[in-house]
Amino acid sequence: MSEFDLIERYFTRPAPSAALGVGDDAALVAVGAGKELAVSSDMLVCGTHFLADADPFLLGHKTLAVNLSDMAAMGAVPRWATLSLALPQADGPWLQRFSDGFFALADAHGVELVGGDTTRGPLNLCVTIMGEVPAGRALRRDGAQPDDDIWVSGTLGRAALGLAHLQGRLRLYDQVREDCLQALHQPMPRIALGLALRGIARSAIDISDGLYADLGHILQRSAVGAELEIAALPCVETGVEAERAQQCALGGGDDYELCFTAPAAARDTLTALAAQLDLNLTRIGKIRAGRGCVVRDAAGMEMKIEKAGYDHFA
Ligand code: ADP
Ligand code: MG
Repeated sequence: MSEFDLIERYFTRPAPSAALGVGDDAALVAVGAGKELAVSSDMLVCGTHFLADADPFLLGHKTLAVNLSDMAAMGAVPRWATLSLALPQADGPWLQRFSDGFFALADAHGVELVGGDTTRGPLNLCVTIMGEVPAGRALRRDGAQPDDDIWVSGTLGRAALGLAHLQGRLRLYDQVREDCLQALHQPMPRIALGLALRGIARSAIDISDGLYADLGHILQRSAVGAELEIAALPCVETGVEAERAQQCALGGGDDYELCFTAPAAARDTLTALAAQLDLNLTRIGKIRAGRGCVVRDAAGMEMKIEKAGYDHFA
């Protein structure tokens, strides 16, 4: 199969909302009047982000999901994506499963694949995602203010527990194992939440490297500090030692939940939103003037945090 057969067979789908999709030197898209284009790339590298024997359907899902998560964190409507692939060989069944997983999630969010690149090389998957947001209304990292509540969506630490299970560092059973492995392999980007948070949240980020590390980016960009209650973190509650679950909730990567800050006046609105979206939203601490993030244990004592989160080069 030639490079062009491969693109044609697995990655060429109608892209009706784009002015020009796959097949030319560049795609053309029209951004609506009064809107900004939110653009972000995320790359998944074999051996770093996944193993060579990973299920290709789930890999196709996750390749797009981690990018959609960035759109969620910006409060943007995801619209278009490009997909750049380095592949060791043209493996038809693998490509079919991969593209099925990719397009299943793309279709669920109305995302059109409008271009990319395909080359031979060590397995490497890179998406650039483009979304629209009304001008000036994107959620950003730099808007947190002292006394804001800090919130997170969903349950934290599941992906890290799933990975620890696969690596034999702990054993999970039954439903907890299924939930954690699903969180690891098939994260669900919080697009609806991100859109609903426009005009409510003062700052937001998606949790890809761990809560403590990612909240740190909000604090740095907003020039504020924070206080977290470890006991308030929404963590896995059964089948795992509580302390381990809390550590994973604080430091574990790959969750793709949203962390955001909002004034206390927004509490009722956010509680109603959680019910409407059928998604847990949990208040885990406060933004404080000054710098640094203090984590308090159940007795109110300051905890010593050792591993801040995942860093490829640390
Ligand atoms: P060029 O050589 O001009 O960069 P290519 O020959 O690499 O163009 O690609 C041909 C067309 O196929 C382009 O529109 C490109 O965006 C698209 N394309 C290439 N690889 C992919 C892919 N993996 N998924 C979607 N579109 C792709
Ligand atoms: Mg090219």
